[in-house]
Amino acid sequence: MSVQSWQTTSSGMAVAVYQPASADCPGDDDPENPCESEDPPAYCDEAGSCFDADIQNEEHHDILKALESSGHLSAMWDRSADFGLESFNWIEQDPTTGDISSRPLEGDEGNTLPCAVLTYPDAAPENAIGYVHTHPKIGETRSCRVDPKNLSKGYIEFEYTESHVSQDDLDTVILHDLDFGIMLDSEAVSLYDSTEIRGAYPRCVF
Ligand SMILES: [Zn+2]
Repeated sequence: MSVQSWQTTSSGMAVAVYQPASADCPGDDDPENPCESEDPPAYCDEAGSCFDADIQNEEHHDILKALESSGHLSAMWDRSADFGLESFNWIEQDPTTGDISSRPLEGDEGNTLPCAVLTYPDAAPENAIGYVHTHPKIGETRSCRVDPKNLSKGYIEFEYTESHVSQDDLDTVILHDLDFGIMLDSEAVSLYDSTEIRGAYPRCVF
């Protein structure tokens, strides 16, 4: 994955702009899309992280596999599209078995908004190792709070034009002392730590 540049959006967010690391997971407009063949590969049934398509990083592969197998990634994406709100799940790891699971943010832990998620300090569950959240579809316009934490500053119409991970996304990793965060939009699944994107994988089916 390569971060190409840092930009500041019209809403003042610093964002990393990048190219997806691999084109091996084909899009719907790919003329040789194997998902449309008579015998489609297993990953075509997934929500689109393509975890078994071409993800060499074993840790990323295992995390995405757990999210896909539970149906949580797909449910989060559907919820985001249906309600026009970002979805947020904690990712937990059983300290004994190493099993990875996830569950949605609860009402007393924070608030999901159209273009942000607010989480309270100390909200993370005991075994949380990361979190996953959604962004809008590329080309989708949402009415966003100018300052997510200050309702009095009003709203702006904001078109989501590029897949990105924001400074707020990175800060959430720090706030809850997590190992990583995940951003899911209609173009990519990106895994990042508190400082930068560590893997960006194109979505092929959603
Ligand atoms: Zn975000």
